[in-house]
Amino acid sequence: MSNLKEDLEYLQLYSICKAYQDKAKEAEEKNLSYTGYLELLIQEEVTDRIQRSIKKRITQAKFPIIKTIDTFNFDWPKSINRKKILQLFEMNFVEEKKNILILAPPGMGKTHLAISLGYAACQKRLSTLFISAIDIVNNLYASISDFTFIRKMRSYLRPKILIIDELGYLPLDKKGSDLLFQIIDKRYEKGSIILTSNLAFKDWGKIFGNNTTATAAIDRLVHHCEVITIQGDSYRLKDKKNKKLLQV
Ligand code: ADP
Ligand code: MG
Repeated sequence: MSNLKEDLEYLQLYSICKAYQDKAKEAEEKNLSYTGYLELLIQEEVTDRIQRSIKKRITQAKFPIIKTIDTFNFDWPKSINRKKILQLFEMNFVEEKKNILILAPPGMGKTHLAISLGYAACQKRLSTLFISAIDIVNNLYASISDFTFIRKMRSYLRPKILIIDELGYLPLDKKGSDLLFQIIDKRYEKGSIILTSNLAFKDWGKIFGNNTTATAAIDRLVHHCEVITIQGDSYRLKDKKNKKLLQV
């Protein structure tokens, strides 16, 4: 005689296994047909699997903190293109392998927007990875010495969206800028990059240590891209108290 529970577990239909008895009662109460009952069960399994896969995407994305667009105050910056930003949340840029460059001074919400976009992508079950520019470089450096370079490189090429945060706070040496350039070059037209930087393009030579690499990186990044610029005062200075502290 077959054991339903065991069979469902063997088939990895864990949600059905958990719910089939309650759903049977529900089906009886609602006078559902056999097909109606089956539909209830399958719906349960599908909904749970989608939720599990969204959760997995969020964990894999390694966000330092969760930020969402509904907590972003569009009235704070002096200049910001709200419509263009909200359109990005439709996620068409991912299929189009387009990049998003978010350029603004510190505290203007670059990281907030980048995480919000990544979080929304996870909700659509798009693989995403968040990492700072300096961590990419440091991790790749370290991977050379422990012979995991190819694997590490692959982990930055595989996600549909790679969020590279805070390019420009720390200058890169020659090797570091070559490593970062490799990522930008290899993802070109293959996978989206969301990149945040406090520096305008004209100053990227300072990050990459030389203008040739900076130009080549910009060339690839901007070929298919949306540039978001934000202007105004740092959100961190929103409270007068913080403003005073920073002036001292
Ligand atoms: P940046 O990356 O540009 O330096 P962050 O995204 O880290 O700035 O923003 C600094 C802090 O201010 C974060 O806590 C962020 O959530 C918040 N913040 C920045 N801009 C806004 C905004 N327009 N609305 C709501 N919170 C904001
Ligand atoms: Mg930031």
